[in-house]
Order: sequence, then structure tokens, then C-alpha cells
Amino acid sequence: MPEKIRDIIIIGGGIASHTAALYTARAELQPLVIAGVEPDQLSTTSLVENYPGFPEGILGPELINNCKKQAEKFGAKYIEKKADAIKKEGNNFQIIAGEENYLTRTVIINTGASPRTLGIEGEKKYWGKGVSTCATCDATFYKNKTAAVIGGGDSAMEETIALSKFCTKVVVIHRRDEFRASKIMQKRILSLQKEGKVDIMYDTVPTEVLGDDKFVTGVKVKNVKTEEEKELQADGFFLAIGHTPNTKFLGNLIDLDDHGYIKTNRNQHTNVEGIYSAGDVQDHIYKQAITSAGTGCQCALEVEKYIENLKNQGKY
Ligand code: NAP
Repeated sequence: MPEKIRDIIIIGGGIASHTAALYTARAELQPLVIAGVEPDQLSTTSLVENYPGFPEGILGPELINNCKKQAEKFGAKYIEKKADAIKKEGNNFQIIAGEENYLTRTVIINTGASPRTLGIEGEKKYWGKGVSTCATCDATFYKNKTAAVIGGGDSAMEETIALSKFCTKVVVIHRRDEFRASKIMQKRILSLQKEGKVDIMYDTVPTEVLGDDKFVTGVKVKNVKTEEEKELQADGFFLAIGHTPNTKFLGNLIDLDDHGYIKTNRNQHTNVEGIYSAGDVQDHIYKQAITSAGTGCQCALEVEKYIENLKNQGKY
């Protein structure tokens, strides 16, 4: 059995969690972070140039380590385990992480969303070395270069628009003969195609990411209708084939949207009183480090208020 009832447990090891840990630690709520065993998205990114406060940019792993250190400085504790389940126990929550079992009054869930990958040759090898899942983050590195974008949804359109501002050419590679993206986004891509900034390859799938051992140099593709294969030159390979929110472990405890993302209100509350959520696991639109940190902060402030109310109402 758990030895005590904690005020707050934070689940997830990304920047939303470190921010929530920093704020709740400074509020003397002694947060425990169940950080998971997989690296968060920033830890697998190279230079981050759009996080305010770092005019020269900062390496993703350095940023994330700094944030964790800052939270630990104020007393946040971390365990590197995966949370397997959350159960409601009266007014509290039981969290099961392997053999461990914790009881807490509040929970902040920031388990993120994992970008889908193709599993083709070269994809892993050149991850962070030309293979990317965030053009908003990386587009400026491709000034006067060429890039391939994989996918036909809104994300692929958005990545293509972001890259077309810097690249000499962006090639969109889509497995079908029509995009699933919204009409307005499609229109923008078609107009970039007319301007000669974008090429579109329909009915085509990438089969290998090519490189010179240091960085991406191209992509091998196959037309799914004609079976024709060819190699394209490309300096960047951007995956935009969707994300999978990490919400499976929640079972039916919390309301999710049709895509499996946690539903939150303007104040980051879930439908379960005492459970809050921040970062990509509840956001399929912005997906930025700064918005994750911001929503993590909001959760922490809401938790502080909730605990204060429990005390004021004699329910603590
Ligand atoms: P999405 O809508 O699920 O699109 C994923 C795309 O990747 C689809 O075109 C899909 O092809 C393709 N794909 C999936 N698996 C693939 C594979 N193994 N190989 C090749 N292609 C593959 O994902 P999303 O674009 O990330 O959008 C997610 C949600 O966020 C959507 O609701 C979207 O509207 C929203 N969003 C909105 C905006 C905006 O409004 N500005 C921006 C970004 C995202 P098929 O079409 O053949 O299935």
C-alpha cells in the first residue's frame, strides 16, 4: 500500500511536466514526477531556435535537462518509470507504475503524443540529421535547400508551407491521389505548386531515406500504382503522417476526443475533478515546446488552487 497521500503526481517526462513540477515544487506541494522510460520529443531534437530566451538557440536535450534541474532545485522528485494505470480511490487517485503504487489528491497528465513513423530504412539512422517531424522548428535550417514532406493531411500542408519560405523546392509525397487536408490548406499548396515552389507526388510512398552517413541526401520512392521506383535529391525528410497521443493507459477514466487526445477546458481541467492535462497529449494543433510549458504552468496553478480549496473546506 502507498505510504502517504501526496498532493500532486505529474505523469510524463517532457517540458510540460518539468514546468508543472517547477511551479508545484515552488508552491511546496512536493511533486513526484513519473517521467516514463522513453525520451520526450525535445530530447531527440537538435537545435531549438523558437524557445524564447535563447537568442542563439539551445539544444533540445540541454533545454530539457535545464528545466528538470530547475524543478529539482526546488524539491521536485523524479522516477523513471512508466505509469501503467490511474484509478479513482474515493476523492483521491491511485497510480500504478510497475511494482509501485502511489496515492495522490491531484494528477497532471502530460504523456505527449508520439509522431508516427514509417519504419523504412534510413529513417532511424538519420533521425535529427535531416529526418524531422517539425518543420516549424527546423525549417530555417533548410534555407536554399530542398526537402521532402510525407503525408496528405493538414500537418503535411502546414509543414510544406513553413518549408517553402526557406527551401528552393519542397516535394510533397502522398500515398493516395487526393489529400485529406482541409480545402483551404490544399488551395495554399496548389498555389505554391503553381509558383514552382512545391512539387507534388501522388500515389507515392517513400521506401528508403538516403544519406552520406552524416545527413540526409535524398529519398527513394515508389509509385504504388505503376510500381515505378526512383531516387529524389532532398536535404530534409519531414514526416507529417500524424501523431498518436499516449493515452492508452488511461482506459475509460477520462474523456478523450475522436483522435484519442485528452479533452481539457480553457483552464486545463479534464472532466475528472482533480485531474489536469498539458502539452501534446491534449493539443493536436499547436504542439510547441512553449505551449507545452505554458499549459504545464496553468495545470500547476490550478492544482495549487484545488489543494487550497480542499484545505479551506476541511476536505484535505
Ligand atoms: P492526419 O489528418 O491523420 O493525416 C495524416 C496523413 O498522413 C494522411 O494524409 C495519411 O494518408 C498519411 N499517412 C498516415 N500514415 C501513413 C503511412 N504509413 N504512410 C504514408 N502516409 C501516411 O494527421 P495530421 O495532418 O497530423 O492532422 C491531425 C489533426 O490535426 C487533423 O484533425 C487536422 O485537421 C488537425 N490539424 C489542423 C491544422 C490546422 O488546421 N492548421 C494543422 C495541423 C493539424 P491518408 O490520407 O491516405 O490516410
